Amino acid sequence: MPSAEQFPAHADLASVLVTEADIRKRVRKMGKEISALYGDEEITVISLINGAVLFTADLLREITNPVRLDCIRISSYRNETTSNGKPQVLGSLTLDIANRHVLLIDDILDTGKTLSVVVSLIHKLNPASVRTCVLLDKRGRREVEFESDLVGFQIPDKFVVGYGLDFAERYRNLPCIGVLKPNLQNPPEWA
Ligand code: 5GP
Ligand code: MG
Repeated sequence: MPSAEQFPAHADLASVLVTEADIRKRVRKMGKEISALYGDEEITVISLINGAVLFTADLLREITNPVRLDCIRISSYRNETTSNGKPQVLGSLTLDIANRHVLLIDDILDTGKTLSVVVSLIHKLNPASVRTCVLLDKRGRREVEFESDLVGFQIPDKFVVGYGLDFAERYRNLPCIGVLKPNLQNPPEWA
């Protein structure tokens, strides 16, 4: 792991939950699992950006099947009241997914709202199959029933950053996943 001197954002972490080496090892293994799961089939990967960008880029290089890639952006619903608190898909897919094997990739499964909305939307487009793959799972936080087919790591109920996950768009480039120091979780200038 790089030191705070080599990578200054490390100094903002209270703790590291998943190291860069842990991620590399697990992503390699998940790539093998996915390749075995799909046999010779082509996979249409749909990545939920921005959060899943780093995970998707690394995971795709470990999948040996033919792959097509599309991305979707989901509106943030986290600061909204419960009546409006439904994730919405912004923009649309560019690939046709009818009769295709779709693998949805996200960074983290938390309340389950995002992936359940996206999965039902994908189902309406008549794919041959739909599976989900997340790097992190905070199982204790679920508000709607949802389990991902593939999970990298189970983590405790803590707000994490790094490896694609942000706080106010910062920290996505950290190579590990960690918990921000409490005094940095609410700086007024980032509100
Ligand atoms: P869900 O809809 O399952 O509650 O949330 C999934 C989305 O919430 C993730 O794609 C991610 O954008 C965001 N999220 C949930 N937990 C965390 C976290 O601990 N850190 C960060 N940076 N984002 C999170
Ligand atoms: Mg996200």
